[in-house]
Parts: sequence; structure tokens; C-alpha cells
Amino acid sequence: MAYINENFLKLQAGYLFPEISRRVKVFGEANPEAAKRIIRCGIGDVTEPLPPACIAALHRAVDEMAVRETFRGYGPEQGYDFLREAIAQNDFQRHGINIDADEIFVSDGSKCDCGNLLDIFGAGNRIAVMDPVYPVYVDTNVMCGNTGSAKTDGSFEGLVYLPCTAENGFVPDLPATPVDVIYLCYPNNPTGAVATREQLKRWVDYALAHQAIILYDAAYEAYISTPGIPHSIFEIPGARDCAIELRSFSKNGGFTGLRCGYVAIPKTLMGKKKDGGKHPFHALWLRNHTTKFNGVAYPVQRATEALYSPEGQQQVKDLVNFYKGNAALLQAALTTAGLKVYGYTDSPYLWVRGPQGVTSWQLFDRILDKANIVTTPGSGFGAGGEGYFRLSSFNSRANVEEACKRLSDKALFVFG
Ligand SMILES: *Cc1c(COP(=O)(O)O)cnc(C)c1O
Repeated sequence: MAYINENFLKLQAGYLFPEISRRVKVFGEANPEAAKRIIRCGIGDVTEPLPPACIAALHRAVDEMAVRETFRGYGPEQGYDFLREAIAQNDFQRHGINIDADEIFVSDGSKCDCGNLLDIFGAGNRIAVMDPVYPVYVDTNVMCGNTGSAKTDGSFEGLVYLPCTAENGFVPDLPATPVDVIYLCYPNNPTGAVATREQLKRWVDYALAHQAIILYDAAYEAYISTPGIPHSIFEIPGARDCAIELRSFSKNGGFTGLRCGYVAIPKTLMGKKKDGGKHPFHALWLRNHTTKFNGVAYPVQRATEALYSPEGQQQVKDLVNFYKGNAALLQAALTTAGLKVYGYTDSPYLWVRGPQGVTSWQLFDRILDKANIVTTPGSGFGAGGEGYFRLSSFNSRANVEEACKRLSDKALFVFG
């Protein structure tokens, strides 16, 4: 009999979202009428259809695939040049950032990239994650053996947790013990916080001083509206020597079902060998990507390219503004209810502080029972999320307006 990878057994069986589903199901069975009114504001999936520029590009590409002369089989694993060029120019060079097309690797999304990137890191790195955290960073490290066992509070032995609190603006302080790999995500999921240039500079300077690597997840970059907030880690001097950036088209173009993202790895980014020599991560990622991946579908790459056309850019802006309009409505409702709301200005998420002494799951149950709204308990993202809940603005306007009516009620949040 073949051995299994026992690291998987350390995972707490995807605790958060199954537990939410279980509680919603139990509630629905006990309250069939109320169950019909349930509004889901928990999961971070988009609701609006794809931008028309993408749909047109998809149709054109599908028609090309139907004709021998324009049919395409395997493309370059790293992505077609037309898309890598569009990305390098529009996301970086146009803003004065030095990233070349051959430093862009097109993929089927950031979640896969998060997991696969660990292939190019050796064993023994000390890994730092934010707390609360996007669970993918933690779980992928658990699976490949970079952690010890789970502790009772859901955290893992061997990881360095960086507390993100209202006091530090949900941007962590530098770690007390040295680390080698640092996950940063801004605008942040789940807190919706952004990091200023000064805050990111502190992390880049730390990484350069400690020869650490920052894995920078900018999936929500399109939601930044506060002037002066960096849209890319590569806006910070020195980041080419210490950072990898992950981007996704899921939250700007609404590609959660179409699937496209990319990794930007500067050729100057070096890692260390056991003999003390240096080696570029770019070369390893090129080998990894071309060995294990055969490229994103041609029509999807054309649809992604269309996001960078003038019409596409306008349509993305409209989509993002639509969701941000939802966020503003929800923020107003929760403020009326007397709660402190974070994060909604530069992200699709509201990170909401419950009354003193009330746990995240108590908040979840109360809001489900009394308002028939599904939220995400903050503690599900880590011990640092206790006492908070996350509300997503990815919803129809009609659902958001109804949710606002139900949430703007002070009595909803009176406990004890
Ligand atoms: C949604 C999200 C992504 C994007 O994932 P895809 O696999 O590209 O859909 C990446 N990082 C974070 C933090 C996210 O919330």
C-alpha cells in the first residue's frame, strides 16, 4: 500500500466554510420560512457578468479556434506574448515600474500560484503570515510540510503569525524573530486594509536586510481609490531584489469562473543554495511552470487582454465601482447599527468589529437568526480575527439594499 502525504492530516478539514454551511443548513431546517429570505454576504465570489469587451474577445477567439488557419493548440506555457506585453505595459511600465514582459507568468489564477510557488522554495524557511490571514497561504504551507501540527486555536506550530489589529491599521509590525518568507496581501483579505508606501517600504527594507522574500498578493489592487497607496510592491525601491507579486483577474474583471492570473518574478530576485551560492528564482519558476503547466486557454488569454483595452478598462472601473457602491451602503447601515467598520474604502470587504466581549461565532449566529444574513466569522481567518466578522460587497444591489435594511438595527447587536 502506498504512503500518503500525512501533512494533509494536520489540516483541520477546511474548518471555516464547511462550518458556515452546516450552521446555515441547521438554521434552514429549523426555520424553513426564514431560510427563503437568506442573503449570503459571506463568500468572496463576484456576482456580476463579465465585461462586454471580454465577451466579444471570447467570441472572436472561439471563432478562430473553429478554423484551420487560425486554430491554436498548445501555446507558450508562460502565456502568449500579446498578453504578457499588455500586462507588463499596463500594470507596471505605464506607472514607471520596471517589470518586463518576460518576468510575467500567466496562470489559471492566484490560488494555484500560491500553492505552486512553494515548489521553488527549499525546506527550512521560516515563514511569516498575517493574522488574520487568507487561509490558502497557511494551508499550502501545511500541505508541503513547512509547519508542525495545528494548535487548539487553529494556528500551526512553526509558522510566525504577524498580528494585524485595529491599532496597527491591520499592517503588521516587523517580526521579533528573523523570517525568510513573508506573505503580504494588500488591499487585504479579510480586513480590507491597505498598506501605505512607508509601511511597505519598512517591509521591503526588512526583506533586503534579512535576505527574505516577500510574496505580495495584490488580487484587490483595482479597488484602491485612496491617492498615494501603492498598487504594486514593485513601486517600492529595492522590491525587485526581494519580492514576487501575485495578481488575479478574478476580482477586477470578474474572472472567478473564467480563471486567469499571473505571477511577476523579477530576474534579479535571488535565493540561497546550501553551499552559500545564489540562484535566481525566475529560472526555477520558469522550469516549474513549463514542466507542470501547459498554459491558459487561448480564448481566456484574449479575454484577459481585452480587459486592458480602453473599453475594457472603463468596464472594469464600472464593475469595481458597482461593488464599492455596495460596500458604501453596507458601511452606512452597519455604522447606523452602532458598529465600527474597517476596510471598505479600498477593497470589496467590510471588516466589522462586534460589541466588546462578543465572539465572531456569536455574531454569526445572531445575524443569521435575526437578520437571515450569512457573514464570515473573523475568527475563521485566525485568532487575530476574533470579535470581528467579514461582509462581502460582491452581491446584487437589490440584495445589498435588503441586507442594509436588516443590518441597520441597533437591537441586532445588543447582547446579554
Ligand atoms: C480571491 C483572491 C485571490 C484570487 O484567487 P484566484 O485563484 O485568482 O481566483 C487571491 N488572493 C486573495 C487574497 C483572494 O481573496
